[in-house]
Amino acid sequence: MARVVITGGAGFLGSHLADELLGRGDEVVAIDNLSTGNNANIEHLFALPGFTFVEHDVSNYVWVPGDVDAVLHFASPASPVDYLKMPIQTLKVGSLGTHNTLGLAKAKGATYFLASTSEVYGDPQVHPQTEGYWGNVNPVGPRGVYDEAKRFSEAMTMAYHRSHGIDTRIVRIFNTYGPRMRLDDGRVVSNFIVQALKGDPLTIYGDGSQTRSFCFVEDEVRGLIALLDSGEHHPVNLGNPNEFTIRELAEIVLEVTGSSSVIEHRLLPTDDPTQRQPDITRARDLLDWEPQVQLREGAERTVAYFRSIV
Ligand code: UDP
Repeated sequence: MARVVITGGAGFLGSHLADELLGRGDEVVAIDNLSTGNNANIEHLFALPGFTFVEHDVSNYVWVPGDVDAVLHFASPASPVDYLKMPIQTLKVGSLGTHNTLGLAKAKGATYFLASTSEVYGDPQVHPQTEGYWGNVNPVGPRGVYDEAKRFSEAMTMAYHRSHGIDTRIVRIFNTYGPRMRLDDGRVVSNFIVQALKGDPLTIYGDGSQTRSFCFVEDEVRGLIALLDSGEHHPVNLGNPNEFTIRELAEIVLEVTGSSSVIEHRLLPTDDPTQRQPDITRARDLLDWEPQVQLREGAERTVAYFRSIV
């Protein structure tokens, strides 16, 4: 049993992580400033004795009284729509927020777990992406606020590991979807599902030939916990390697929802990566982890969630 701090604990991934950790008997202190997180995601946890919620922005000094065994830094806007709306907050939580939470882990002698991203690879010129690839990021483009914040946070985490001997983990999360994404999250899976359920046009940005590899949240969280429990300090990709074009995703969503929504094309956002697929050899070898839920089943389960809230 451990006492675990999760920043971004009211968010999509943070709240699922809280569920899993509490389920196995850990205590959880969730910290969130609710800028993109939502109390509804953790409402069911407030009655549990092992759960504490603190509303706080970890870009400011952060302190948690008592023993802490692990600090999981998941706080950040993660949808392009959100981080383009909040560019400076995104840079701050990835830089200052990472520094502050590393400081907390150091003071407590806790394990530090950084939620990084496939965006560190930018618009990748190596396909699929291995952890050894250094990426192709435009530092001054609009997406740079997220990509560079996460690249900095990886560098900072490794510096704390090397200089202060902190026990650290770095996960590079590839497109993850599932229940508890916000209706207005803005990412492609939730956008298409909500549009299909409302009978609105599905908005494909560009011609839809760009690819992504979509991981169901349950698989992702299982991998995150396996990585936390491992002793691995180098970055590990966690995502489902099955790759789809955005056009294919739109077709699957239309089939699963039975919607007759039409497709509308919109402008492709600046620096939108043309392809993305994780090489998960390291996760397989180190964690014995393999995603089990494929896109159609994951889409069905996500549609069921959105039907209940649309
Ligand atoms: N996208 C789209 N329609 C939408 C939202 C996104 O065609 O309504 C595209 C977007 O341009 C990108 C892909 O879907 O090529 C994945 O976008 P998302 O925002 O989900 O995440 P990203 O992988 O870009 O961070």
